[in-house]
Formats: sequence, C-alpha cells, structure tokens
Amino acid sequence: MTNISEPAWFPIALRLDGVRVLVVGGGMIAANKVRLLLAHRARVEVIAGRLDAEMQRWEDEGHITRIASTADEATLRAAMPGCRLVYAATDDRDVNRAAAAIARAMNIPVCAVDDPQPSTFITPAQIHRGLVRIAISTGGAAPVLARRLREQVESTIPEGTGALAVFMQQQREHVGTACPDISRRRQVWETFLDGAGAQAARNGDAPRARAILDDIIATTATRGEVWLVGAGPGDPDLLTLRALHLMQNADCVLYDQLLSPALLDRVRRDAELVFVGKRRNNHTLPQEEINAELIRRAQAGQRVLRLKGGDPFVFGRGGEEIEALLECAIPFQVVPGITAANGCAAYAGIPLTHRDCAQACLFVTGHARADGTLHLPWDSMARPGQTVVIYMGVSALPALCAKLVEHGLPPQWPAAIVERGTRADQRVLTGTLGDLPTQAAQAGVASPALIIVGEVVRHRVLSPA
Ligand code: SAH
Repeated sequence: MTNISEPAWFPIALRLDGVRVLVVGGGMIAANKVRLLLAHRARVEVIAGRLDAEMQRWEDEGHITRIASTADEATLRAAMPGCRLVYAATDDRDVNRAAAAIARAMNIPVCAVDDPQPSTFITPAQIHRGLVRIAISTGGAAPVLARRLREQVESTIPEGTGALAVFMQQQREHVGTACPDISRRRQVWETFLDGAGAQAARNGDAPRARAILDDIIATTATRGEVWLVGAGPGDPDLLTLRALHLMQNADCVLYDQLLSPALLDRVRRDAELVFVGKRRNNHTLPQEEINAELIRRAQAGQRVLRLKGGDPFVFGRGGEEIEALLECAIPFQVVPGITAANGCAAYAGIPLTHRDCAQACLFVTGHARADGTLHLPWDSMARPGQTVVIYMGVSALPALCAKLVEHGLPPQWPAAIVERGTRADQRVLTGTLGDLPTQAAQAGVASPALIIVGEVVRHRVLSPA
C-alpha cells in the first residue's frame, strides 16, 4: 500500500549486550556513539591514534578496547572480522567512506556517521521510557525534522510509560492464561490502557493496577461489536481523533472504493483489511452481503470497523447497516466524519452559506434510478437564496443542469464541480449551469466529484500563495 519510491530504511531493534562493535575514531563524534553502545552493553573496540578525554577514561576503566593506530586499510581489515557492527565515526568523511567500503565488502553492517550514502544502517533519534523505545528517522534526509518530530512525540508520552510497560510484561502470563483467545486478550489490554488501571501502573501502584486488570478480565465480553466510522473525504488529516483511535484498535476493517488509500495507511498494521467495494454497474458486493459480513464477524467476537468515506449518515447507507445490526442485537457505535460537502467546500474555497446570497444549503443525490431517470424535488432545488450540493452527480451532470434551468434558474447561474476533493490531486472547475457540463466533459472529470450550485461559487476565495 505504501509506495516507497526512494530507498527506505527498515527499522529494527537490535540486542547489543555482549556484541562486538567496532568504532573507527577517537574524537567527540565517536564518543557519542560509544556512549550509546556502552549503555546497551556492547563490547566496544575503538581504532584511534588518539583518544579524547572521555574515551580515554573509558579505556582506562576497561570499558573499551583500543587498537592504537590510524584507520589505515590494513588495520581496518584486521580489526573487522568478528565484529557485528561498524561505526565509521572520525571527522574525516573520506576516512569514514573508506572504512565503510571495507565493512560492506565483508558484509558487516556499517554506519558512516552523518553520511547515509555509504551506510547500510543508521542510528535513529530515540525516546526512552524504560522498556519503551521510540525511534524516529528520516533516513538522514532531514535531521532537523526528525528532531522536531522527536520533541512532539516526546511531549505526548506520559512519564510513567516505562513502569506501565514493565507492569504489562509482568502480567502477560496471567492475562494469557485467563484469556486464551487472542482477540479477547487484546480487548482486555485495550480496556486496561484506556482506564484507571494504566494510570495506577504508571504511578507505580502495581497492586491496584492488578486489581483493575482482574476486574476487566472478569467483565470483558467475548462478544464482538461494529464501529461505523466516517473517514472524511480523503485527506487523512481530516480523520477525527475517535476514528483514528478505532482504526488502531479494530480486528478487521471493511472498506470500499470511496476510501482513499492514504486513509488505509492509518489502520493498525495487523488488522485484516476487507474490500467490500461496489461500483455503479459493477456490483461486487450488494449491501445485504456487506451487512451479513459485518454480522458474521461481530458474532465471531471481532471488533469490526466499517470505514466509510465522508460521513456514514450522509448518503452512506449507514442507517441500513445499523438496522441490520440491531436486528441481530450486535452492539455498535457510529462515528461521524467530515462529509464531502464540507471537505470539498473548504478545500475549494467555496462557502456553503453566505449572508448575502445563501441562507440555506440542500444536500441531494444525483444518482439516477435503474431506469436512468432522476427523481428530485426540482422546484425546491431551483431557487435563489440557497446552495444545492449534489452528491454522485457526475454522470448525470448535463441532465441535472438542464433540469435546474428548466425549473427556473438562469443558465448563467453559478455552479462548480470538485473532483477528488481534499486529496492531493483535487481539481475544481467553476462555471455556470450552461457551461459546466461541457467543461467537465472536456476535463474528463470522474467520480468522486461533488457539484455545488449557487451564488456562493462567485464568492470562491483562494488563499494568497
Ligand atoms: N458518505 C459520503 C458520501 C457517499 S456518496 C460523504 O458523506 O461524503 C459518494 C459521493 O460522495 C461521490 O459520488 C461524490 O459525489 C461524493 N464524494 C465523496 N468523496 C468525495 C471527494 N473526495 N471529492 C468529491 N466528492 C466526493
């Protein structure tokens, strides 16, 4: 799903205790790496003609072994066999690159400090909270950005997170025995993390945390549930916090083609992704089958996320889905999303209401019936003083515009169409009822696109560059 066009760094965490690591260099740059390596109990060997004071102390105290030599080829070749990692950490880029080349030829992972190109691994910026390690890296592309992100993340990780991780480690066996079912086990931990138990563990009050945990184990049902969640029109930044939270907790996610791929990237990695898409004229899965799938999975104890474009209750058939759930007594939650009208209007700079010209706003569907006809309240749509937003109207655009003129709006009446609104490749066309269909046909506008009809289109404002 994620499209990696650049060579990307794959994050892994290594155990270094007792592992032989060679550091080339005796100055400050090397010392920074050695300090980190010693903290992880690596066996550090250093090639350096001279050592800085801190390094000298480590040598004197027996924490590191020094090969007292310049980093010439013969010394490097002799020192590398048997080492599991190499840091080329002198202040001379050429020396580092030469050392990196030798390590690569010997198949030993090497990091040339501040020089990703000859490196085969890098050491990311880190946040420590006891057992918890968070690593942030831009692959050497933008160290200042990595540092800024680190600050942001750091400020959101509560102080006692390390203690919490230790508590959870200690209770794993207990919870495993009490809840052999993996999905229920995950549910227990998630309930625990959301409540007072996690806070007690963070505060170091293990007995209280344990009591709360046991209470959760006793009360967590094995019954599944369904979350009907609006994901907004495409830009992942428009997800609600609640949507994001549930996307991180679901066992499986049912989605259709209206969902932009950028949104699916936010789903928990090991959740099962199930495509239940349906296209006009090409029904891959009828609504009844989607309902049946939701019910089957929830009855099997899963927490099922039904992720919908926009808002589930705006032309989203969310109502039908929850009726079906209710019939089977399956618990559900509905989470609103930003509907296409709101998203497209905002990102296209077109207000939906305006004190001067639009006191009301009507959402209608332009989806034609099976026989190709449109049954819409034309008289109430073809009125001044309001905005009409038409969903699913791309293929019927010429008919829609013609009907509105037929029912009394002038052909010069403003109208716009927003294709793939809020996404990176959003397109906006503005015109009139008279010329919008031709414009859209010429530009090849395709679904998903939203039509906005009314004088608000003339009030379109774009941010100065
Ligand atoms: N529940 C959704 C609407 C589903 S109907 C919501 O609340 O937005 C599908 C229609 O929504 C599409 O045919 C299109 O008219 C509109 N739509 C959804 N996402 C869109 C987007 N990113 N840009 C433009 N229109 C969109």
